[in-house]
Amino acid sequence: MTANILVVEDEAAIRELIVYNLQQAGYATVCADSAEQALHRIHDALPDLILLDWMLPVMSGVDLARTLRRNERTRLIPIIMLTARTEEGDKVRGLEVGADDYVTKPFSPRELIARINAVLRRLIPEASGEVVEIDGLKLDPGNHRVTSDDLEISLGPTEYRLLHFMMTHTERVYSRGQLLDRVWGDHVFVEDRTVDVHIRRLRKALQIAGKENWIQTVRGAGYRFSTSEE
Ligand code: CA
Repeated sequence: MTANILVVEDEAAIRELIVYNLQQAGYATVCADSAEQALHRIHDALPDLILLDWMLPVMSGVDLARTLRRNERTRLIPIIMLTARTEEGDKVRGLEVGADDYVTKPFSPRELIARINAVLRRLIPEASGEVVEIDGLKLDPGNHRVTSDDLEISLGPTEYRLLHFMMTHTERVYSRGQLLDRVWGDHVFVEDRTVDVHIRRLRKALQIAGKENWIQTVRGAGYRFSTSEE
């Protein structure tokens, strides 16, 4: 799964430089030139990570970070602050309002990408390229193959992303809205029952391996990946 990164930066030249480098590194990007525009973008689709400039024209990056952390839907989005400030107190303040890391301007593109990779690996495991294996069920993001004890499981792209997310977030219940946000990146324009359709297809595909019960329905709450029977 390609991580989708929201770049919030009011200076066009810096924004374009960042976007160019992110795309070269294989990331998908969305841009905003203000905190207000960023909120619109986030409303439309939840990004996997936000690169957030500290100094923005109206609402500051720090205020935006604080706002996102207070909101149930957005509080877990990883945030990397971009700051021209180097004083220790400002770094601490950035981390206090909920940034997961910060990069000081001017930065090298290579450093920026390394920091993004590290935060994603830590916080959004499904966006990293690592193989996931649970009790014989193996998902390899390198070649998009899913196997169960060497038996090939054929999945459509959405079922694949859904399984990838669920295998990297086991034993936790996710509502349809949360799955839309995290797997589809969109809770506004996609209907809840779309999730049910793809869950059904995923279970059907897992039947060949006898693992369809690992995708569990939690009545009134959503879905959970678990290898233990209820
Ligand atoms: Ca700025």
